[in-house]
Amino acid sequence: MEHGHVAADIERVVASADQIQARIKELAAQVAKDYKDRDLLLVGVLKGAVMVMADLARAIDRHLEMDWMAVSSHGSGTKSSGVVRILKDLDRDITNREVLIVEDIVDTGLTLDWLKSNLESRGAKSVEILTMLRKPEAAKVKVDVKYVGFDIPTDFVVGYGLDFDEKYRNLDFIGVLAKHVYS
Ligand code: 5GP
Repeated sequence: MEHGHVAADIERVVASADQIQARIKELAAQVAKDYKDRDLLLVGVLKGAVMVMADLARAIDRHLEMDWMAVSSHGSGTKSSGVVRILKDLDRDITNREVLIVEDIVDTGLTLDWLKSNLESRGAKSVEILTMLRKPEAAKVKVDVKYVGFDIPTDFVVGYGLDFDEKYRNLDFIGVLAKHVYS
């Protein structure tokens, strides 16, 4: 899709739709291999991880389950607050489950650091992380992320699930949001 309606709002493309889909296939193959003969529960973080989850889950050729959490770490702005709140919790107990958290982006790492410890404290057998994007330069805490789609610079990006003020999530590519949109 061309998404011409946002052309003026996107400074540059970070990952094209084709690049994203190719990387998803590689990640899915790696996950299927690593979890062979093991349980697999994907936990998606709403709303940003919806696209990653939908594409990743369909690319993994085996039984798996999906559950969802919603946490808030950003308001409608572009900076992490570090304060995490659960807006929607998992539907089911995860005691002894092999959990793979599916995220859109790791920025400061504060959200995932908190989420990983939270899920571990519920008695999961394992908790690993898959994220489509990571901003290594922005890390404030070191989070052990097992699967990374792309490492990117610290610019604020939108698309493929990532929003600015709830918009741009439906883009099939990921791009840097032009500063004139939010300043
Ligand atoms: P962290 O706690 O790692 O700083 O931030 C994690 C959350 O902040 C992500 O799940 C995402 O909601 C939001 N976030 C961080 N960087 C970006 C960005 O570049 N674009 C968008 N749209 N959201 C971001």
